[in-house]
Amino acid sequence: MSKFWSPLVGELKPYVPGEQPKMRRLVKLNTNENPYGPSLRVLEAIRQQLDDGLRLYPDPESEQLREVVSRYYGVASDQVFVGNGSDEVLAHIFQGLLKQDKPVLFPDITYSFYPVYCSLYGVESRLVALTDTFEINPDDYLVPNGGVIFPNPNAPTGRYLPLSEVERIVAGNPDSVVVVDEAYVDFGGETAISLVDQYPNLLVTQTLSKARSLAGLRVGLAIGHRDLVEGLNRVKNSFNSYPLDRLAQVGAAAAFEDEAWFDQTRKRVMAERDRVTEAMTGMGFEVLPSTANFIFCQHRTMTGEDLAARLRERGIIVRHFSKPRIDNFLRITIGTAGQNDELLRALGELTG
Ligand code: PMP
Repeated sequence: MSKFWSPLVGELKPYVPGEQPKMRRLVKLNTNENPYGPSLRVLEAIRQQLDDGLRLYPDPESEQLREVVSRYYGVASDQVFVGNGSDEVLAHIFQGLLKQDKPVLFPDITYSFYPVYCSLYGVESRLVALTDTFEINPDDYLVPNGGVIFPNPNAPTGRYLPLSEVERIVAGNPDSVVVVDEAYVDFGGETAISLVDQYPNLLVTQTLSKARSLAGLRVGLAIGHRDLVEGLNRVKNSFNSYPLDRLAQVGAAAAFEDEAWFDQTRKRVMAERDRVTEAMTGMGFEVLPSTANFIFCQHRTMTGEDLAARLRERGIIVRHFSKPRIDNFLRITIGTAGQNDELLRALGELTG
């Protein structure tokens, strides 16, 4: 605490990111990165950009990248906004679109950055409880509000809301913005981008950190009606003069041009997810059905905290949240087949 802080800073409870351990040779299954690495085309594009020199400023509008994304998703390029990771895109959304005179609604168990942005930007919020099976009930979001935001699939639960149900929330809220955070949609979900031309209140965010394996490059995007995108551009150009850097712009564009790698790696992750789920169920775990690149699970007898600590002793890092209702759960990222084997071996010893 410092006397120079504004009262707002004193009251902030900043987001606590998942650990990025400094030790090597760990089985790192705690922050939902992709174990397979990005497309070689991304690396080539970045190398080429290095050869061309980093002397020049990047394009502030990321025009080529937005063109590539707009072609990929079949929307106009002025419907595409890009930012330094979807975290930055979300920050602009909270500040520019969700700060209204009524509270924004989001699930009580969800991405923990949402409440942080609310306190930072003075956005009023109301938490909506998930169902007994940790699912989103669309009817709960059809009440007066200043906006709605939820990840689909949700994090950390991994539970997915079918597109028809997402549409019910969007259609039922014509006077507020509905943000669908699709960070994990490529692992078996269906994107709501197909609905943006029909619903001017729908904004879909995605990231290149997960299925496209570029968490280190920091690229996220939002797609929606051009008026919503223009609002985000106004926020970005008012307080943040930092566009994506040159490497991020070319690397991200190249990632959308290698569909084969994208498809192959995400399918591998999905197949491993099913294998790990089955094996852990056999060890006495309840594993929630997941449509993401992680699973959310609890053991019949051992606590989540204890399991996380014991896995750590064996060099395997998973995520445990000390929060009511999910205190006993672990969120475990799906790794390579070899990493998952190590995880299963350790869990077999701990629970056997
Ligand atoms: N949304 C959700 C639901 C997430 O879990 C994450 C990653 N932790 C993000 C957004 C942000 O991802 P990034 O900033 O890497 O794009």
